[in-house]
Amino acid sequence: MIGRPSSVDEDDRIPLVDLRASYHSHQKELDAAVSACLERASFIGGEDHTAFAGEFSDWCGGGAVALVGNGTDALTLALIEVLGQGDGSGEVITVSNTFIGTTEAITGAGYRPVFVDIDPDTCLMNIDLARAAVNERSRAIVPVHLYGQMVPMDQVMDLASIRGMAVIEDAAQAHGATWQGKNPGALGDAACFSFYPGKNLGAWGDGGAVFTRDKDLAMRISMRANHGRLDKYHHALEGVNSRLDGIQAAVLRVKLRYIDEWNRARREISSWYKELLAGLGGIQLPVTATDAESVYHLYVVQMEDRDIVCKKMHDKGIGVGIHYPIPLHLQPAYAGLGYRSGDFPQTEAVMSRVLSLPVFPEMRRDQVERVARALIESIEK
Ligand SMILES: *Cc1c(COP(=O)(O)O)cnc(C)c1O
Repeated sequence: MIGRPSSVDEDDRIPLVDLRASYHSHQKELDAAVSACLERASFIGGEDHTAFAGEFSDWCGGGAVALVGNGTDALTLALIEVLGQGDGSGEVITVSNTFIGTTEAITGAGYRPVFVDIDPDTCLMNIDLARAAVNERSRAIVPVHLYGQMVPMDQVMDLASIRGMAVIEDAAQAHGATWQGKNPGALGDAACFSFYPGKNLGAWGDGGAVFTRDKDLAMRISMRANHGRLDKYHHALEGVNSRLDGIQAAVLRVKLRYIDEWNRARREISSWYKELLAGLGGIQLPVTATDAESVYHLYVVQMEDRDIVCKKMHDKGIGVGIHYPIPLHLQPAYAGLGYRSGDFPQTEAVMSRVLSLPVFPEMRRDQVERVARALIESIEK
């Protein structure tokens, strides 16, 4: 961030996410897993890669997993295998309040992203508006399970069934989340995950996965992600090079053992915020639908004068974030889609109101209290 450095000592700062704390909490196990992988020199594929695919699939609820290079490729390759490579004329319905990886994947697969507005409380896709966006060119829906909360998947599936549309879930922020007790991928054609370091299940670099109940689909995505290979020198098709490294698989196998515990910790931290910020005027706490169980990838509050509060929090040594400051329909990258300011009033209102507070599994009660105190002071004066 540009501007004068905060007066807070570097050691007293509370970061938005603390990846070093995550490493230190299981350092021995992680180091041993990586050393073993180095000793085997299995950098591409190998034992950890195969084992992690099976373990992650079991954790997702049983089906099959294709491991790929990142979350954006997970979405792209799933869309291509489910819909076929598009020619730019088919439409895929999604939201503008998301990371650009969602729409890069849609365009990359040869489809046109069509945005719909969000529910201002959950900040997730408004299904009624998605219904209104369906036409004869609609081919798929990409619900984005943002901030750790799933989109109402029963309603998404009902909508998709009208025209036989595919449903590819963007679960990059929702490892372990549920809707009516069901995980990402339980209802949709595929759920796409990112293992970017800051995600709830994060690697030590880029990584991604597609979970699906359709084993043949997972096999085809794996093949496409690995040069269309049948075996070393036989290529069924021209694919891409998008593989999860052996070392990343070794790290992720260790971390998968703790993900449930970490998600529980995130929920507890969120409950502390709720308790400490209850009744505070001028701020809206995150809203979770009764059918949803959030894994709080982000703890997002809403308020007026967000930019002023954001700056005050930074000055107090609190690592806050904004997810997202500019919705995709207003990004220069998508000027060609023809959207303009005012097209999605709820998305645009939320963009100026959201502030993400620190949340990471190792966060202590006293740190949560400090963040809450800083927020109360920042809003009141
Ligand atoms: C992180 C993220 C992605 C993309 O994942 P990468 O691994 O960074 O390619 C896609 N969608 C959402 C909502 C994300 O948060």
